[in-house]
Amino acid sequence: MAGVQVRLATPTTSEVYVADKLWRFATLTACPWHPEGGCGFCRHGTYERVRPPGTLIARWYCPRARRTVSALPDCLASHYSGTLADLEAMVLAVEQAPSRMAAAGQLRTEIELPGALRYLDRLCRAVHGALAAVRGLEPECFEAVAPTLMGFAAVLSGGSVLIPLRTLVARYLPQLPTPFGFDPHRSVLDGTVRRHQHRMGPDPPAAILEAPV
Ligand SMILES: [Zn+2]
Repeated sequence: MAGVQVRLATPTTSEVYVADKLWRFATLTACPWHPEGGCGFCRHGTYERVRPPGTLIARWYCPRARRTVSALPDCLASHYSGTLADLEAMVLAVEQAPSRMAAAGQLRTEIELPGALRYLDRLCRAVHGALAAVRGLEPECFEAVAPTLMGFAAVLSGGSVLIPLRTLVARYLPQLPTPFGFDPHRSVLDGTVRRHQHRMGPDPPAAILEAPV
């Protein structure tokens, strides 16, 4: 998956996204590298994700930067297979299980246990790392809670955590670790997401759904 990802801001579920082929209505009004225009930025088809089946992602191309941009809807995980809700359920199961071994045995029966444990370890590190970074970025909301899904769920009045959180911290997503954020190289929380600096800068570009009139 070459290029960069931006957020396709929508509360829709992956089921609706696929059934209604919502990538067709994804609209990105400006090139991320040349917001002033004039670079020939244009739609560049779609690419397909393995899971959920039938998922296509809208893509654009900047001929001057020679890079593509794709619009990831809030329901999908970045650089991980599947939906954000699926991954959230796995991490939550680990938080609630008596041991990681028990959680891995339940959740990933299609792969060998050592592989399942490694996958869960990496996933939990990435998600908890993102939550810890968010807590540092939004201390007014999250300072008092643990950087876990259970901790954040208490503040976000129940339900799912990661999808509503994408809206809340949209401007930081390019710097937060995947699968929640969009930076595949930031695997561990290191405190380098600087709140002040990025509060001062412009918001990162985001695609929206625009129904045809
Ligand atoms: Zn451009």
